[in-house]
Amino acid sequence: METKECAVAIVGGGPAGLAAAKAAAQAGAGEVAVIERDRELGGILQQCIHSGFGLRHFNEELTGPAYAERCILPLKRLPGVRVYTDTMALAVQGGNTVVTSGPRGIVAIKAGAVVLAMGCRERARGAVRIAGTRPAGVFTAGAAQRMVNMEGALPGNTAVILGSGDIVLIMARRLSIEGVRVRACLEIAPWSNGLLRNIAQCLDDYGIPLYLSHTISAIHGRDRVTGVTCVKVDEAFRPVAGGEFYLECDTVLLSVGLIPENELSRQMGLPLDPLTGGPRVGQDRQTERPGVFAAGNVLHVHDLADFASEEGAIAGRAAALYASGQSGARGRSLPVIPGDGLRTVVPQFLNISGGPQNIKLFARASRPKEKPILEAAAGGRVVFSRALPAARPSEMIVADLETDRLPETAGHIDIRLRQG
Ligand SMILES: Cc1cc2nc3c(=O)[nH]c(=O)nc-3n(C[C@H](O)[C@H](O)[C@H](O)COP(=O)(O)OP(=O)(O)OC[C@H]3O[C@@H](n4cnc5c(N)ncnc54)[C@H](O)[C@@H]3O)c2cc1C
Repeated sequence: METKECAVAIVGGGPAGLAAAKAAAQAGAGEVAVIERDRELGGILQQCIHSGFGLRHFNEELTGPAYAERCILPLKRLPGVRVYTDTMALAVQGGNTVVTSGPRGIVAIKAGAVVLAMGCRERARGAVRIAGTRPAGVFTAGAAQRMVNMEGALPGNTAVILGSGDIVLIMARRLSIEGVRVRACLEIAPWSNGLLRNIAQCLDDYGIPLYLSHTISAIHGRDRVTGVTCVKVDEAFRPVAGGEFYLECDTVLLSVGLIPENELSRQMGLPLDPLTGGPRVGQDRQTERPGVFAAGNVLHVHDLADFASEEGAIAGRAAALYASGQSGARGRSLPVIPGDGLRTVVPQFLNISGGPQNIKLFARASRPKEKPILEAAAGGRVVFSRALPAARPSEMIVADLETDRLPETAGHIDIRLRQG
């Protein structure tokens, strides 16, 4: 097996991986390898031809491919960055050797530090209980997006979509523009998981109804989908008697959750957070395995590419320092716990060592709340507090914490949302 060496190896060439590569190279890491299984860099951005990317990171509204281009071009000018496309990372052995399969066969890339940036994957039909046979015409929303935007094909003529996250909203509009009749979007929760601006621009503007507290209870059809039974559900998601109706269609798109692409993380034995589905990390996005970092959707699903980029830069910079032996000893580990009103928090622990540090904290609300206050409490006192206009499960909450404000005696940090 051919073996190569580099300072930092990055698995995944989406916005998180590309930002990690740029930050590692700018921190003077030396050789940085970006390993991407697809034909080109950019990750999920390449199939998102709609605009709405980059408002925070580039201060401009870009399409997905334009955002990707902005991330790829600087790498070409940075010395030491090597890109391996069409190359799948099969395993990470010993915590620092990425075994890859690509155009040159099996190649082992031994690195001083590894950044995992493999993104996430969609849950498929098996993840939800829908009665019926297995006719053709059932797709995940992301697979349909790739089909329409990159392969130039349509999934069908009349569609019903299950889910209400941004992928659903964007695809409902996209299919309508291409002449597919989108009969409805159904969401089992009593609220939508998409951005409000996307509901207005993608559903309301196209006259597509959104049924909240509804799901698909059966898919009909033998060879091809012929229709779906929709049903209203109560607060416990149980079907409501008399709440059934039938919609004729030949296509069903499912968008029933994204989960971090964590095969490599599992294979390496990295401790995973059961709430996010990704590895547990500290503030520098180092996992509990020294020298292995993670960023972007592989860690927790982001709604904005900008956040994946910010997190990639944190991990890339820290990986470069680790590879060059400059990251110093790991200090006391302080657990970060999602408290009232929050479902997930990243990082899951803080390493308290050396001087003050700025910590980029990402959190998700468990249910919508108007005008809440985001609070961090440690050692019995509030160390951070910020009023938010609103919090929704679909929108990432972002905050910067300073570690010098933490009491010495704190056993953990509780992050919570309280009603303002
Ligand atoms: C439909 C849709 C609409 C969106 N709309 C917006 C929007 O309007 N604005 C916005 O800011 N954000 C939007 N986003 C979110 C944004 O695109 C993502 O949050 C962001 O792309 C995540 O970046 P990432 O680098 O973590 O993952 P990805 O972009 O998924 O990149 C991961 C990369 O890793 C590669 N990979 C995985 N496993 C391996 C392996 N074993 N070996 C080698 N390579 C591997 C994959 O091929 C992929 O290229 C949207 C996302 C979707 C799906």
